[in-house]
Amino acid sequence: HAQRLNGLGTTIFAEMSALAVATNSVNLGQGFPDRDGPDSLLEDAITAIRAGANQYPPARGVPALRQAIADHQKRFYDLSYDPDTQVLVTTGATEAVAAALLAYVEPGDEVIALEPYYDSYSAGIAFAGGRRVPVTLRAPDFRLDLDELRAAVTPRTKVLLINSPHNPTGTVLTDDELRGVSEVAVEHDLIVITDEVYEHLVFDGRPHKPLASYDGMAERTVSISSAGKTFSVTGWKIGWVTGSPAIVTAVTTAKQFLTFTSGAPFQPAVAGALALGNDYFDALRADLQARRDLLCDGLADLGFGVHRPQGTYFVTTDIRPLGHTDGIDFCRMLPERTGVVAIPHQVFYDNTEAGRPLVRWAFCKQPQILQEALTRLQKL
Ligand code: PMP
Ligand code: GLN
Repeated sequence: HAQRLNGLGTTIFAEMSALAVATNSVNLGQGFPDRDGPDSLLEDAITAIRAGANQYPPARGVPALRQAIADHQKRFYDLSYDPDTQVLVTTGATEAVAAALLAYVEPGDEVIALEPYYDSYSAGIAFAGGRRVPVTLRAPDFRLDLDELRAAVTPRTKVLLINSPHNPTGTVLTDDELRGVSEVAVEHDLIVITDEVYEHLVFDGRPHKPLASYDGMAERTVSISSAGKTFSVTGWKIGWVTGSPAIVTAVTTAKQFLTFTSGAPFQPAVAGALALGNDYFDALRADLQARRDLLCDGLADLGFGVHRPQGTYFVTTDIRPLGHTDGIDFCRMLPERTGVVAIPHQVFYDNTEAGRPLVRWAFCKQPQILQEALTRLQKL
């Protein structure tokens, strides 16, 4: 096979979910909710199928969804986008990230990404012929060191690839960090691809502030989100890009030859869900925050070093207090020994040492499932 596939293998998520099935484990590895999104959303997709929304939708997405995405950005962030020229519907955030990288990265260009990075970033950068340059978020706080970010910029830097709330650390970048990122981008005239799929999963009353809202960012920011996380339908693969008309045109050009269009009957359904009242979004957050606390408290009681996340539905733990040193060995041993599956951080790093003792657990599961996992983990 081609060199660009080197090192990609099978994703850790597929490997660990297969192991979960084979060992009949509680799967706190791959992040997917065990309850589907709101009934109205599910019904609307069924209605759309029955109403004949089964052929190619428009390339940039059905008008109702593009309008709903624009309305959502206005309602939550006071950002104004023209639904016809500044919104693109994609096949999940994954395609949006890949298309954005293909749109902006020339072979040999450097892409600075926050490490640990979500695994599709490295593949997307490799497919575009780019070189990834990590800026590491380090335990225990996983804050972004702006000096490290500035030091990582070279004349070959083309793109900053940012993710907040951040998978897998659960870091939500602060106002100062986001402003710092925007200043670096403006100073060096960089494109910023910002993956904000966990925008509604932020805890303890924190706000989510889009990078696109900072000075000088409107013309250089590819903002990405997805229905998968906000509406608990990870299998639908409906994501979107917002940005300047030039940016959306560039990303559309790449997208049209990756998938051409994205899931027709899901689009009107997601349009309806984006218009749900604040009670939906508040309940989603409150529910997940309670689950976060259930799992974090339980893992701490078991002796793990717990890094309580500010956002996302993942918690990172340090396994060293339990006498383990290597997350990959630990996660391979865990299902057989306890009947629980988790994800080793190490696979998300170039600097693997920084991630070696860290393990990620998903808490987007029913409380009794989290409780069952904690009970099983007593066998450790
Ligand atoms: N970005 C991040 C940070 C994620 O965690 C995920 C979820 N796996 C994605 C992108 C992919 O989103 P989607 O399923 O919409 O492609
Ligand atoms: N985003 C989810 C996670 O980080 C699922 C990823 C996947 O299965 N590709 O677990």
